[in-house]
Parts: sequence; structure tokens; C-alpha cells
Amino acid sequence: MYLIKPCPTCGKKLRFPINKGKVVVKCVCGNSFIADPDDSLLYEGGNFDLKPPKKNKQKKHEAKYLKKNLIEKIYSIKYKLQNYKILPAAEQKKIISILIIIASLIAILAVIIFSFSAFSTAKNNSLVI
Ligand SMILES: [Zn+2]
Repeated sequence: MYLIKPCPTCGKKLRFPINKGKVVVKCVCGNSFIADPDDSLLYEGGNFDLKPPKKNKQKKHEAKYLKKNLIEKIYSIKYKLQNYKILPAAEQKKIISILIIIASLIAILAVIIFSFSAFSTAKNNSLVI
């Protein structure tokens, strides 16, 4: 946290931390003073700097964010599966329907593979005959 207070000599606004104990605040005019956060006089004529910290370059961090988001999603799925019994019925139905879709996709794939292999075996047999 920072305090903004005018320099007692020149009046220029100075910004300094108040959560790091006693600090020496130096002004461009050459004046310096010790800011003691425990001294209530320090806060006279000062304002707290409540501005949120500057946002990082978002676009640069977007990829990182997406990756983090994906990991969080995976973890939430893991959590849901682990706590399946205590989930609300709507969530349970959702999970079951997703599992059924995945299972049916695997089944379809298996049928396709099986029919292909059966077809090729039949072809080979006919060649033998
Ligand atoms: Zn000054």
C-alpha cells in the first residue's frame, strides 16, 4: 500500500510505501524525510494510493491464461468424477450423458474397425479359395 503526500518543502506529490516499515523518502528538490507508518502525523495531508496495479500486457499472457484455464477445467472434471456421489442430480445426469456419448463413439469406432478387419479377412479367404 502506498501513500501520496506532498513534499513539505516544494509541494511535489511523493508516493511511498507504508507497509514496509520506516522508509526514507527523497524528493527531486533535495529534501528528504523519514516516513514512519506508525506515526499518525505522517497521514496528515496525505492520500492513500488506491489505484489497482497496472494490468500486465494481456495479449502476451493470453496463451498462458488459456493453458491455465484448460488445466483448471481438467482439474474440475477430475474433481467432479471424484465427488460424483455428492454432486447434484443435474450434474450427475450431465456426466452420465457425456460418458454415454464417449462410450458410443468408442463402440462405433470398434464396429468400424471390426467390420474392416472382417472384410479384409473375407477377401483373403476368397483369394485362398
Ligand atoms: Zn520537494
